[in-house]
Amino acid sequence: MEDFRVGQGFDAHRLVEGRKLILAGVTIPHPRGLLGHSDADVLAHAVMDAILGALALGDIGAHFPPNDPAYQDADSMALLGRVAAMAKAQGWRVRQADATVIAEAPRLLPYVQAMRENLARVLAADLDRVSVKATTTEGMGFAGRGEGIAAMAVVALAPLAR
Ligand SMILES: [Zn+2]
Repeated sequence: MEDFRVGQGFDAHRLVEGRKLILAGVTIPHPRGLLGHSDADVLAHAVMDAILGALALGDIGAHFPPNDPAYQDADSMALLGRVAAMAKAQGWRVRQADATVIAEAPRLLPYVQAMRENLARVLAADLDRVSVKATTTEGMGFAGRGEGIAAMAVVALAPLAR
């Protein structure tokens, strides 16, 4: 059986006024956005952590420290591209990614296709192997109260073709 790697990632950011809501590089119209040192793209961050986990390379904070001014308002999809390049440098490619965004609002379905396309492009993965799902928690917990948005992701890596 071909060698492979699997990784999982989780992230959450607080929703506040005066910030853009950006998920997988897609700016989504909403009165509030996610708070963070970077653009706080919670979906990109979960996928980054999943890839880093598959590589056993630690987590996003170790590679892109939140107190480093270099990452102030950073484009998280560009950082995701750097993580994908780390995988490639170690001989791996993203074979599949599946992610879930947990948000009470806004309704994300109209933006799912654009998120998938952005992720597939940055990961150099086939679009039909990149999945983004959206769910609520039916009003329960921090996501349900609209205090923040969370994301989970799983990735599978396969060896680069030699
Ligand atoms: Zn984050």
